Amino acid sequence: METLIEGGRAAGTRPPDSVPAEARMDPLAEHSLDGYDAESVFGAGSGLTFDDLIVLPGYIDFPAADVRLETHLTRNIRIKRPLISSPMDTVTEAAMAITLSLLGGIGILHYNNTVAEQVEMVRKVKRYENGFITDPISLSPEHTIADVDAITARYGFSGIPITADGTLESPLVGIVTNRDTDFERDRSRKLREVMTTELVTAPKGITLSEANRILRASKKGKLPVVDHQGRLVALLARRDLLKNLNFPDSSKDGSKQLLCGAAVSTRDEDRDRVDELAAAGANVIVVDAAQGHSIYQQRMVGYIKGRYPHVDVIAGNVVTRQQAETLIHAGADALRVGMGPGSICITQNMMAVGRPQATAVYRTAEFARKYGVPVLADGGINGIGPMAKALALGASAVMLGNLLAGTQEAPGEYFYDNGVRVKRYRGMASLEAMGQGGAKRYLTDRNDPIKVPQGVSGTVVDKGSLVDYVPYLMKGLQQAFQDMGYADIPSLHAALWEGRLRLERRTPNAAAEGSVHSLVSYETPRFGIR
Ligand code: GDP
Ligand code: GDP
Ligand code: 5GP
Repeated sequence: METLIEGGRAAGTRPPDSVPAEARMDPLAEHSLDGYDAESVFGAGSGLTFDDLIVLPGYIDFPAADVRLETHLTRNIRIKRPLISSPMDTVTEAAMAITLSLLGGIGILHYNNTVAEQVEMVRKVKRYENGFITDPISLSPEHTIADVDAITARYGFSGIPITADGTLESPLVGIVTNRDTDFERDRSRKLREVMTTELVTAPKGITLSEANRILRASKKGKLPVVDHQGRLVALLARRDLLKNLNFPDSSKDGSKQLLCGAAVSTRDEDRDRVDELAAAGANVIVVDAAQGHSIYQQRMVGYIKGRYPHVDVIAGNVVTRQQAETLIHAGADALRVGMGPGSICITQNMMAVGRPQATAVYRTAEFARKYGVPVLADGGINGIGPMAKALALGASAVMLGNLLAGTQEAPGEYFYDNGVRVKRYRGMASLEAMGQGGAKRYLTDRNDPIKVPQGVSGTVVDKGSLVDYVPYLMKGLQQAFQDMGYADIPSLHAALWEGRLRLERRTPNAAAEGSVHSLVSYETPRFGIR
């Protein structure tokens, strides 16, 4: 538990009643208000980056552990942690999407692949955790152990209900699990010879809570749910109870499956991709374009919202109010904000356009909030400080590329670069990625022999597993919120819009003062110094 030191007092949790009311600071006291409100800071002209700003400290009357980071990803989807992994081919494939969702954020699967490959990833994420598995993979007694092995190799599980003819139309007659097959040398044996036939089942119509209770009490790995004719209608897995226990903040839909996002381009040909992603159960589609103010994007957003009203659309990227307005009117459920701040990005230098990210986030958020549309800060979030600043300037969540690219769950293998364990991380408009389809984001022709890159390819340091890294980031963010004096994202935003959040611009000297200085050498902490 954090210890609070405020005005000379050491406190445990809530402000102790022993502190007289008049001794507590009034956070709204006008006469001592210092710094500037956001409008004064951003109204002064030049665009600002996160590093150009500092947030003045607020009043602490809560422990950091009480800070809640729950947020709106889109108009309709809430997540417990404000983290989104970027749809880049060196960041988000199934492992990243599954783990980040388990940890309370969400992953957006990239589309630098075939439709079939991307759809397979969506399926993997959606199948990973379940309440009722309503389409369990089943076999017949005439199938063999080798058939079970093939399913295990493809999907990773080995508990297979056995029905009379192998389909869900016929009665359940048994179940095969690894306990029935582990020690069988002859993999050609029929399942009827090895299956378990004494089954604990539950009747169709049972609630999930009651089915879970039966499953726990039975001490079995699976609970088949059957209708009055004995046909299998669903399956429950004990593993899912454990997943729910171990990851209580995971991002899930109504069926207890993990939330999954996927990206598409604005090209008409990607409408087929949208159709297949929606059919596979994607909850959110990100229309991925570096410059989102286009007729192509309007059409794509309109197409998705028209056909799949239950799928939320994150449109972008935008950095101005006009861009935001166009996409909100097109039907966007959230806006992705950023043009040029990405660590691998050279757009501002190559194309002359973009906007410093702090200004882009503040201006678009200020506009979009009137429509109830969340803004997602994408790019340049290189640590906890910038993450906190992005949220303080109106973002509902942050999208991360660089920060997550070095984790175990990111695609690619580790290798050593000058003795440092690294993974490859590349911009989707790097020459390397463009050759594979990344160019779609930049409205350029894949077959054009002349390629002008807007991104570079490089390496990032090993960050270990997300399972350790995300809690570290979130603990840091809770502490940053505590220092700012706000216990959740809505109250931070309310303070921003009401002018109570106080900011100051930093000169380059001030930024240097706020960084490590005057040392001969020092050790960088494992996860960096921001
Ligand atoms: P098993 O004992 O090898 O079947 O595996 P576990 O029960 O430990 O884990 C199975 C995991 O796969 C659970 O999280 C299920 O929700 C998930 N799953 C998704 N679809 C299916 C399915 O059709 N059958 C089974 N058995 N599990 C599935
Ligand atoms: P919870 O906050 O996740 O427990 O959500 P609910 O209140 O909606 O839970 C209803 C029931 O579903 C409870 O019995 C939960 O333990 C259970 N539950 C939640 N997630 C899962 C899951 O992934 N699989 C299964 N089988 N049950 C779950
Ligand atoms: P990072 O977290 O590395 O600072 O930024 C990641 C973001 O940079 C992505 O979410 C995406 O918006 C943007 N991005 C990805 N690849 C490229 C690229 O090649 N060029 C540009 N301009 N931006 C990129």
